[in-house]
Amino acid sequence: MSNHALAEAAAIIRDCAQAVAFTGAGISVESGIPPFRGPEGLWTKYDPELFDIRQFKARPKESWELIKKLFYDFVAKARPNAAHYALADLERHGRLACVITQNIDNLHQAAGSRLVHEYHGSIRDLVCLKCGARFLAEAVGLDTLPPLCPECGGLLKPDIVFFSEPIPDEVNRTSVQQAQMAGAMIVIGTTGEVMPASRIPYIAKNRGAKIIEINVRESAYTHRTTDIFLEGKASVMTRALAEAVLGG
Ligand code: NAD
Repeated sequence: MSNHALAEAAAIIRDCAQAVAFTGAGISVESGIPPFRGPEGLWTKYDPELFDIRQFKARPKESWELIKKLFYDFVAKARPNAAHYALADLERHGRLACVITQNIDNLHQAAGSRLVHEYHGSIRDLVCLKCGARFLAEAVGLDTLPPLCPECGGLLKPDIVFFSEPIPDEVNRTSVQQAQMAGAMIVIGTTGEVMPASRIPYIAKNRGAKIIEINVRESAYTHRTTDIFLEGKASVMTRALAEAVLGG
């Protein structure tokens, strides 16, 4: 990493009215959660079809067996890493307005971030497909699959956006508004290939935001919209960026 690029990125964040972070699976890789895409990605081992809402409704027990194994026996036990903590520090010091995340792992909140817009929802909650009631996953328990609504007996689904499902209006609206108001956006660990979430940095850029990107390799954004590319691991780069912002 060039110290010049880091100093320039820190100055942009310090000088802008509002900085926002946009995060993808890459920020949680160092917490032990693999991304979906790429050579180590989950889709090389598992069938993404089971995360299509039509398949989920048609084969709920089979879908839930995989969901439980991947998300509740594994992801739910992961801990935040230095990158999540660095973003929480920036927010605490008034240098970051919010995090917009594509992740469903709850690690930004676990690190202390307060304003987190979960674009694809979170595994923290379960929602009933029949009556719409919501429950904390840990309160329901997953001993019998599929889990059923304690109130009406309907099928419970993790409150995450499945393939073929739309993004909930409220989180979409808020995320777009935050992107439009941002003077700087820190884009961390995302390929930029998942629509419509991938539009968020372009929306910010079109309204004049500077884009600071952190990734171990180039993404769809790097040559199209990124102003400063900080190549490296999220834990190292985000910590270094936060220290440069807060110490400078
Ligand atoms: P992705 O799987 O498409 O891409 C991950 C990105 O992270 C890549 O660009 C990769 O180069 C980068 N990366 C890998 N290791 C990194 C590191 N240590 N530091 C910095 N960058 C690193 O992820 P995506 O674009 O976020 O899209 C996948 C979708 O799947 C997302 O919408 C997300 O909802 C979901 N997902 C979530 C989780 C999670 O909640 N932790 C995990 C996997 C997938």
